[in-house]
Amino acid sequence: MKASIISIGDELLFGQTLDTNAHWISQKLSQLGIDVFQRFTIHDLADEIKNTLDKALDNTDLVIISGGLGPTQDDKTKSTLAGYFNVKLVLNEEVLRHINKLFSGHKAGDLERNKQQAMLPGNCTVIPNDLGTAPGMWFDIEHQCVVSVPGVPIEMKGMMNNTILPRIKTHFALPVLIHFYLMTAAVGESQIAEMLQDFEKSLPGYIKLAYLPGQGMVKLRLTAKGEHKIPLLHAVLPYFERMKSMLGHIVYSENQDDRLEHVIIRKLKKSGNSLATAESCTGGTIAKKITSVPGSSAVFKGSIVAYANEIKIALLGVPELLLKTKGAVSKEVVIAMAKGIIRQMHSDFAIAVTGIAGPGGGSKKKPVGTVWIAVANKQEVHSKQLSLPGKRTQIIEWTSVIALEMLRRFFMKHFV
Ligand code: AMP
Ligand code: MG
Repeated sequence: MKASIISIGDELLFGQTLDTNAHWISQKLSQLGIDVFQRFTIHDLADEIKNTLDKALDNTDLVIISGGLGPTQDDKTKSTLAGYFNVKLVLNEEVLRHINKLFSGHKAGDLERNKQQAMLPGNCTVIPNDLGTAPGMWFDIEHQCVVSVPGVPIEMKGMMNNTILPRIKTHFALPVLIHFYLMTAAVGESQIAEMLQDFEKSLPGYIKLAYLPGQGMVKLRLTAKGEHKIPLLHAVLPYFERMKSMLGHIVYSENQDDRLEHVIIRKLKKSGNSLATAESCTGGTIAKKITSVPGSSAVFKGSIVAYANEIKIALLGVPELLLKTKGAVSKEVVIAMAKGIIRQMHSDFAIAVTGIAGPGGGSKKKPVGTVWIAVANKQEVHSKQLSLPGKRTQIIEWTSVIALEMLRRFFMKHFV
């Protein structure tokens, strides 16, 4: 089962409007197990619409068209579809009543225009539009379907959710899809691919592994496609378990909505411990991530953004001599920062970071991207040096994610 999406609108090609409809429709169709095979973005031009429809119907079962359904001259989709299917536009009384009702109370109801909106190709099934005047249209052409929806995102979504997606589900024999997720952070995509090389080769055709990298993290999705849910589940579960054991401790969650900070907050809450951060080069990014999680106040004490040396000395108690002899970006200083923040905030755990995010400030010995991270509790400190590639924002983001991942692994040693 394959689908095409055609987005119609001059404004999309001029770059004035982002084609969010195609993105949303793709997601919804994919969730139903439909292969979105191709997408087109075209002008409000009758010939373009016809040619593109030819191409789409050439190799897909379902075509969803968005846009060009307004009542104005520049919207050409409806009349073009009538021409394409060689049918006349006929007045739909029910649609007309709906449009007149929408306008009642507004004296601006233009009766002729309302009537034009209610003229629809004779061969279509009308898709009601509760939120606007332009109805959608569903065309059955032998075994294929063409569906036309307005471009206004809220109207398009309403019609898809209320009528079109349920109709697609009953109209087509759709496969069952089962997804499993594994979340990893601070490990490169290629390193994971290497770990899973043999596993990937062993997968049968109906199970696919996808790598979905984000900032400092990689989401792994194992998808199984079949006809019946229970046998499919039984078939895919052993593969998922194998993949999980191959990746071991680098997996921080099986929930695709979890970020590292969610996991950390949960672990702190469960164990009754607190956290504080001392941040130099990340400028509070780690604290921001932590505090973006609702309920973090129960376990997060706070952060000191100790950017200047005098602040590291005054607020974190970093010895001046250390800064002079070792430099602000050093193992000794990051350890002193971690110990200092535990002392100052009476926290059980700490993260400290100091580094050179660039573009300036680097030297031969300590180039841009040199970062020291420490994670600590009252008894123990772990520190690590990083040499990160990339630009300032990337270095800050990677440092924050790696620091959180270091803390998660530090936790694994102290409590599950
Ligand atoms: P239309 O149905 O062509 O009259 O579209 C009406 C409005 O919906 C346009 O002015 C755009 O602001 C918006 N729109 C149209 N197509 C899209 C699209 N593919 N994605 C997001 N917004 C759209
Ligand atoms: Mg338009």
